[in-house]
Amino acid sequence: MANYFLDTNVYKHHLHHPLMKRIVELKECNFADRDVYDYAPVDFEDAMDSYEKVLEIVGEICAETIASNAESVDQEGPAVHNGRVTYASGTQVNLDAVRKAGLMGIAIPRKYGGLNFPIVPYIMAADMVSRADASFENLWGLQDCAETLYEFGNDDQRQRFLPRVCAGETMSMDLTEPDAGSDLQSVMLKATFSETDNCWYLNGVKRFITNGDSDIHLVLARSEEGTKDGRGLSMFIYDKRHGGVNVRRIENKLGIKGSPTCELVFRNARAELCGERRLGLIKYVMALMNSARLGIMAQAVGLCEAAYREGYAYAQERKQFGKAIIEFPAVYEMVALMRAKADASRAMLYETARFVDIYKALENISKERKLEAGERQEMKQYARLADAFTPMGKGMTTEYANQNTYDAIQIHGGSGFMKDYTCERLYRDARITNIYEGTTQLQVVAAIRHVTTGTYLNQIRTYEALDCKPELEPLKRKLVDMTAKYETLVSLVTETKDSEYIDFQARRLVEAAAHCVMGYLLLQDAGKDDLFRRSAEVYIRYGQAEVEKIHAYITNFDRASLTYYKLSSNG
Ligand SMILES: Cc1cc2nc3c(=O)[nH]c(=O)nc-3n(C[C@H](O)[C@H](O)[C@H](O)COP(=O)(O)OP(=O)(O)OC[C@H]3O[C@@H](n4cnc5c(N)ncnc54)[C@H](O)[C@@H]3O)c2cc1C
Repeated sequence: MANYFLDTNVYKHHLHHPLMKRIVELKECNFADRDVYDYAPVDFEDAMDSYEKVLEIVGEICAETIASNAESVDQEGPAVHNGRVTYASGTQVNLDAVRKAGLMGIAIPRKYGGLNFPIVPYIMAADMVSRADASFENLWGLQDCAETLYEFGNDDQRQRFLPRVCAGETMSMDLTEPDAGSDLQSVMLKATFSETDNCWYLNGVKRFITNGDSDIHLVLARSEEGTKDGRGLSMFIYDKRHGGVNVRRIENKLGIKGSPTCELVFRNARAELCGERRLGLIKYVMALMNSARLGIMAQAVGLCEAAYREGYAYAQERKQFGKAIIEFPAVYEMVALMRAKADASRAMLYETARFVDIYKALENISKERKLEAGERQEMKQYARLADAFTPMGKGMTTEYANQNTYDAIQIHGGSGFMKDYTCERLYRDARITNIYEGTTQLQVVAAIRHVTTGTYLNQIRTYEALDCKPELEPLKRKLVDMTAKYETLVSLVTETKDSEYIDFQARRLVEAAAHCVMGYLLLQDAGKDDLFRRSAEVYIRYGQAEVEKIHAYITNFDRASLTYYKLSSNG
């Protein structure tokens, strides 16, 4: 029986990272649940064993069910009748399969019916689901919203909603409006408190809402009349059982066609406040988007992997000029780079997930008891790293998903342009990953302060200090050289103190930092397992050339020429 978890060693490699010991220890709080639930782990080994068992189930469902349905789901898509959405029949089968296997709410604590998984194995499941069908990941992955509800909802809300998610009800995240996309401060959906009914009512329109006909919605709305910025926004829970929200239409999209993207009309929709008023955008949606961004990174990694597999298989099979096309340097270079980008993206995904895991687990513990000084320091350090790696990782991996799926079509030649081959769907599905949950440009806006304040450089130096096998030393020297160039560029750009110029060069600086980070992560992977040696060699050479290009561009750039860019954008 086909199984995504077992058909490669890369998942196990990332699952068994040394930091997992600390993650499990924090997440399981001395394995206190073992006396309450017979399925709770009794020690670290038992916990790791349980993650593997569940991931094996996910791997099997992905290969046997979700991937098999992907094509028909793409063709059929969802439909809307009388304000309600019906999924494609294959999507419904997928949902039934994950529900039956108990894969909803897997990161939620056991007392609400979840499996209390850390983010690493949860995101690994998301990586596999995306490899099988990126559009289904959108529905399954929205269980992220339950984590936000757990984090910021009160006890009563946790008890009422979380068991429903763990039992299989779906969620959605209702933020975007016609005039509020990247700039969520402009959200205008109105929330009014009724003293008579002692509840809030929501009125207005949301657009582009994935799974907008879900059972439980988290909604960003303006609760403070007369305000215009983010400080007037609060987060609400809308329960479909109360009614008041209808789907006006579903979008006809380029890709992820199995995932319904809805325009929603709220008419006196009864809702309850989640957390405190005014913190909706500033605190809760920021947290929600950070975990959703990790989910999109996983989606990108799954797509990178799927594209590589499609490209590689075709390149071996297809013969031209009397030989398999994979024997041509132009083709094997593409295939090798696709593999390297998939491995680099995956390394970035799990490194970020580990950072998130540690700080979140400590944050949770801090709600139960006062953290010790060392723990507070640890939480601060990992929160900062998570904050820095999430936008960088989301930006890079989603661009690589686009590049890998593009190259998969290129390898297929004319056939790749036809609906007959999977690479065509992958290409369409990948296109949204660097747009939603914040475009790449917005990821750069979030990441640049970690360039200017040195978070990336400090972390690169931490990687640099790690031991490296003698045979990998030449690769490390390349990374040291890349880092020196990156450091020079940061000084060169920031010492101008010209914020417009810094913004202009920001993407290049973030990318240069990312090439160093991803290169070092692959170097570590290659040090532990020969499986990654080839990708480390290919990626670091690629990254070095990219950093050289960025270096040449910035060092030769005359700031006065910024005018030409502005003039050209004025037509
Ligand atoms: C299929 C799909 C599913 C979605 N699902 C959801 C969902 O479930 N929930 C939800 O709330 N939303 C969802 N969205 C909305 C999505 O998050 C937004 O489309 C996205 O954030 C971009 O906003 P926008 O479309 O308004 O583009 P705009 O914000 O208008 O951006 C247009 C362009 O301007 C650039 N730009 C804007 N501001 C800046 C800046 N400060 N600096 C540099 N460049 C900038 C952008 O990078 C982009 O290139 C979904 C969208 C799609 C297409």
